[in-house]
Amino acid sequence: MVKNWLHLARFLETLVSMISLAQRMDWIKPSATLAMTAKAIALKAEGQDVISLSAGEPDYDTPQWIKDAAIQAMVDGQTKYTPVGGTSLLKQAIIKKLKRDNGLVYEADQIVVGTGGKQVIFNGLMATINRGDEVIIPAPYWVSYPDIVSLFEGVPVFIECPIKNEFKLQPNQLANSITPKTKWIILNSPSNPTGCVYSKDELLALSEVLRINPHVNILTDDIYEYLLYDGNFFSNILSIAPNLYGRTLIVNGVSKAYSMTGWRIGYAAGPKQLIKAMTDLQSQSTSNPSSISQAAAVAAINGPHDFLNEWRESFSKRRDFVLNELANVPELQLIKPSGAFYLYIGCKGIIGKVTTQGNVIQNDNDFCTYLLEEHGVAAVSGDGFGLSPYFRISYATSQTNLAKACDRIKAAVTALRISR
Ligand code: GLU
Repeated sequence: MVKNWLHLARFLETLVSMISLAQRMDWIKPSATLAMTAKAIALKAEGQDVISLSAGEPDYDTPQWIKDAAIQAMVDGQTKYTPVGGTSLLKQAIIKKLKRDNGLVYEADQIVVGTGGKQVIFNGLMATINRGDEVIIPAPYWVSYPDIVSLFEGVPVFIECPIKNEFKLQPNQLANSITPKTKWIILNSPSNPTGCVYSKDELLALSEVLRINPHVNILTDDIYEYLLYDGNFFSNILSIAPNLYGRTLIVNGVSKAYSMTGWRIGYAAGPKQLIKAMTDLQSQSTSNPSSISQAAAVAAINGPHDFLNEWRESFSKRRDFVLNELANVPELQLIKPSGAFYLYIGCKGIIGKVTTQGNVIQNDNDFCTYLLEEHGVAAVSGDGFGLSPYFRISYATSQTNLAKACDRIKAAVTALRISR
């Protein structure tokens, strides 16, 4: 009896002493991509037969010479703090890369290395956004852009980019969305979640609009730079419009190119005063990114890149396989993207249909829940990416998994009936 009272008293105490959260926590939600990936992992751990097409990461292992460089760094005692914004060796490797691949010239104080591309974007926006500043985000977009903007009391301004435009922002849409409060536009090509790629001409047309709006800064997220197919080449807006150099922040990293998602190394190149501000922020939050990961990133960026030919060939084959498998499902709408490893699949045709359990599929979120719970396929619903009704799948998984997943998706769609 006494024990029960004690339990009750402790429980009441926990309720009273609950730490209240800051208001800004109401403005964000957990990353939809990471949430779905975690859910799929948890279901698998419970022994359920789930194929995960939700994780945005290559299924290859990190190449051996990159791992060797990390081991060597540990053996050599590179296990201490480094300069907050990255080692000088890594900055030099990035400078060389930007010249080699993009024809762009930067100095060491124009580079900052952070704990993944996400942290670099976070710091870049934190360092620049004042309450009410607008950030133009073409939709569909990567799930984290709007939440990061909202955290700093900025206003995400979404521009819907329909499938008929290959989900790409049109110059007139951009021109019509710019206001005196526009601080940034975020560009991401190849795109997450669509895989679509802006051509040189398309970037040139956008740059013309930006040229006459000198108060708009450009954040270009180039993380999928090396993953382009069908003979397409990557272009950064700065290589096409060098006049934007003073107001462009390039974000990139080693996660996707070298299959190093867990090593957490991203970087930015941009104007000195902004890079300094981002570095200062980092000095008060995470300090330097992992010294060992930085050493590995040097080996990755300076090392051979021919292995990517094999990866690209394999990714494009898997993309074609899925497109072919799902082509005859009339309820689904697909286009063939030229980059990254995602397909953004329209599912308007299934909205309003009823599952065998009697549940009506009201939106893409319902469809993804149904797909996961009743057919064992994890995909991320379009609402997290700002354009519905769609769902994103990553085809960076084995051919066997893809074949099974496609069969399950087809079975899931076929099993739905029209509601009466
Ligand atoms: N960028 C990847 C994705 O979209 C990794 C997860 C994340 O950080 O969003 O799935």
